[in-house]
Amino acid sequence: MKITFLGTGTSQGVPVIACDCEVCLSEDPHDKRLRTSLLVESDETTLLIDAGPDFRQQMLRENVMRVDSIILTHEHKDHIAGLDDVRAFNYKSQDAIDIYAEERVLKAIRKEYSYVFAEYQYPGIPRMRLNTISEYGFNINGIPIIPIRVFHYRLAVYGFRIGNFAYITDANYIPEESKEKLFGVKYLVVNALRKEKHISHFSLREAVDLIREISPRRSFITHMSHQMGLHNKVSAELPPDIIMAWDGLSVICK
Ligand SMILES: [Zn+2]
Ligand SMILES: [Zn+2]
Ligand SMILES: [Zn+2]
Repeated sequence: MKITFLGTGTSQGVPVIACDCEVCLSEDPHDKRLRTSLLVESDETTLLIDAGPDFRQQMLRENVMRVDSIILTHEHKDHIAGLDDVRAFNYKSQDAIDIYAEERVLKAIRKEYSYVFAEYQYPGIPRMRLNTISEYGFNINGIPIIPIRVFHYRLAVYGFRIGNFAYITDANYIPEESKEKLFGVKYLVVNALRKEKHISHFSLREAVDLIREISPRRSFITHMSHQMGLHNKVSAELPPDIIMAWDGLSVICK
């Protein structure tokens, strides 16, 4: 299985509009962060975790030729705003795209994209097949996906475990029973917004503490704000098994 970081930035992306901090002005490509999303490719299927406002740009940059399904962590705009652009994949496959999320998130999708679910449909609109998921897990083309309940301040969000890999974004609290589902992973992606504490995201220290508790072989930090600091500076402060992810980074999970 191969994972590719399509975006590693928080909701505003990096650079932030109209910001003149050193990170936003940096010319290092590692400091350009589109909104957080992940591509997962295996022999069986190609899927995405989240489809934010940069979806189109991410598909073009990575030359993605097909997407079978999109799994959603939660309904915040930086994770769902790109769904209108699934039209290109609908056209190519001549089929609707499968969207997997919990009922609350699907309700938000039906509201945000009301024209997709309207009784009288305008020609050329995106086509989505909504699939409700629960903590008991589900399969995509034979690949078992295990949802992991995490909390984003008070909002319940799903992380996902796929084999020896797990992905947790937009969380600042993980209940003990959810940690049980994370033990044994070799590759862990976890969100950290910045070094300072935040109300709804892990700080870098909190993410590192979680990584030490789960102890995977390699870990990756994502969903970063410009307040995290320059990529080359912060990366150098991290232990070698913890990588500050960047847009375009691919990892083979074996
Ligand atoms: Zn987010
Ligand atoms: Zn900035
Ligand atoms: Zn969020």
